[in-house]
Amino acid sequence: MRFNLEKLVRPNIQNLKPYSSARSEFSGGASVLLDANENAFGSPAGNGYNRYPDPLQGELKRRVAEIKGISPDRIFVGNGSDEAIDLLIRIFCEPGRDTVITCPPTYGMYGVAAAINNIEDIKVLLTDDFQLDVESVKQAVTPSTKLIFICSPNNPTGNLMCRESVIEIAKEFEGIVIVDEAYIDFAAGPSFIEEFQKLPNIVVLQTFSKAWGMAGLRVGLAFASIEIIDLMSRVKPPYNVSGIAQCALLNALNKRPQITAWVAEALKERARLVSALSNLNIVEKVYPSDANFVLAKVAETNKIYQSLIDKKVVVRNRNNVELCGGCLRITIGTPEENQMLLNALKDEG
Ligand SMILES: *Cc1c(COP(=O)(O)O)cnc(C)c1O
Repeated sequence: MRFNLEKLVRPNIQNLKPYSSARSEFSGGASVLLDANENAFGSPAGNGYNRYPDPLQGELKRRVAEIKGISPDRIFVGNGSDEAIDLLIRIFCEPGRDTVITCPPTYGMYGVAAAINNIEDIKVLLTDDFQLDVESVKQAVTPSTKLIFICSPNNPTGNLMCRESVIEIAKEFEGIVIVDEAYIDFAAGPSFIEEFQKLPNIVVLQTFSKAWGMAGLRVGLAFASIEIIDLMSRVKPPYNVSGIAQCALLNALNKRPQITAWVAEALKERARLVSALSNLNIVEKVYPSDANFVLAKVAETNKIYQSLIDKKVVVRNRNNVELCGGCLRITIGTPEENQMLLNALKDEG
């Protein structure tokens, strides 16, 4: 592979002199901080919130590095993984000229982030069994293709992508392959972080919004080469992760046994839900899942969706999504919530 990062980056980003914030120019332990025009008297939000947060999230990255077994300088922390998606597009794609490849049905934000940046989204449908169509992806690549987005486990289909397919695409492609692992904690397979030695053009996205239970804090992660992480750090807003989020996250990372227990319970409930749904007359098919949701094909989808809402149970209607005709995406809830869903569906016949 002739992967050349410098050639791939937009020239204006390559030449960017990033904003230098007060807190990045001085980060030692001083007792008199008169450099950032903060309120020196205090904060009504609590101790310390009168100060700007660490722009590079040093302590947080060190803790994440320990947990993930990867060097801190290969970690980007963002305002949700959605920020990482947007940054990658802005770093590599020239508006009105460059293109990205997505593989629908998949997470909608890739296409939206591309559209916002006036980047054409070349769509290569997954196969009927929701796997990557490797040959078609390869054929869709043009000299202006900078990024390929792959979601594994995929939203909304729930399956892991065949590992060899992802590796084959990454080996062949001269641009960046982004592997979105928002649901990896629920999956039977390993993370693509393990392929970093062999594949310098992979960026792995993960998030604290799903298994980790912190969607409200807005914190996502990207793992990549030091050079790519450096580019992301230069382009991001200086204080992209709030002090409250950094503080809450550092505390939460000490509660991993709780997360492990919740994931185990979600997996147990997923198995129960798959088998109970499969036994219902209105359910035509339940797709196997490596995530914390299941995709189910049901008769009279829109009608069932609406009658669930009437019973105050909200699922995601994917009936109008390519390859997902007739499907509802159902998040795994607590045992009580799942039972309410099943009872509501049983009423439908
Ligand atoms: C939920 C989800 C995310 C998470 O986005 P955040 O901005 O981190 O909350 C990312 N990718 C996929 C595929 C998702 O389903």
